[in-house]
Amino acid sequence: MKTIFLLAVVLSGCAVTSHASRTSALGTKSSSGAMLAVLDAAGPIALETVVSCDWEVDRSGLINLDHPTARAAGLTDSPEPIQVYFHVLRHPTRGTFIVDTGVERALRDAPDQAAYAGLVAKFMHLERMKVHQPLADWLEREGRLDGVFLTHLHSDHLSGMPDVPHGTPIYSGPGEAASRGALNFLAQPALNRALEGHEPISELQFQPDPDGRFAGVVDVFGDGTLWALLMPGHTVGSLAFVARTPSGPVLMTGDTSHTRWGWEHDVEPGWFTDDHAANAASLAKLKQLVAEHPAMQVRLGHQPLGAEGEGHAAR
Ligand SMILES: [Zn+2]
Repeated sequence: MKTIFLLAVVLSGCAVTSHASRTSALGTKSSSGAMLAVLDAAGPIALETVVSCDWEVDRSGLINLDHPTARAAGLTDSPEPIQVYFHVLRHPTRGTFIVDTGVERALRDAPDQAAYAGLVAKFMHLERMKVHQPLADWLEREGRLDGVFLTHLHSDHLSGMPDVPHGTPIYSGPGEAASRGALNFLAQPALNRALEGHEPISELQFQPDPDGRFAGVVDVFGDGTLWALLMPGHTVGSLAFVARTPSGPVLMTGDTSHTRWGWEHDVEPGWFTDDHAANAASLAKLKQLVAEHPAMQVRLGHQPLGAEGEGHAAR
């Protein structure tokens, strides 16, 4: 009986994290029309993308190798070089925020004490990680952090969370913390450790886009400078963000697109993604947005899109 119960738990999966979540008070439900009306006007957010580490993971997780385009290109499964980022957003009145968290300092200085240690570190092949700038190193210089936006609740986006000061507001898309999956059985304890001592996760609230273009659009600060786009597929509540900077709009895709090849060939991620059809649809919407706004800069989930391999800024 006990075995059957355990088996049922494993098969149905457990939640991403048992860390508390709540409804976010931040963010105004909006529409794609409202965003598009201001998108190309210069904005006040200074945005800097920081390469926290270089890493290698399975290409079959990053790119759907069964996609006809991937097959035609002869892509095979082997380790693919990636980067883990955090994006720094400095708003003139609201403060300094990050999108995703990079990696924690302990992954460089004391891996045995990191939130991701032991079995989960082995599973994630953290030995392949070359840490450049842990979140704590940046924070020491910056001196302030007013909030963290998570594109989704996968391990590699929470890996800097132990360096975030307790009490800092944390935001995600709707339904992220409670979403279930078989692999969470392995990851949940590590994610709980990464979030230990932190505020409950505040989930941004969306309405269906009245203009029908996206699943949902939120005006994060209510001033049209930062937009959150609901991108279901990679995870149930995955988000992309658009920040309006002095040099034009910058799109942060999150893991709706991990790689340059996937972005350029319209192929969604591989086995890291929950729902392939939904992910592919979300990716197509982002591609269309950028096609219509060619001045928009694009920051993919895990690889640089342009020639630049190091941190890049838009101010
Ligand atoms: Zn990722």
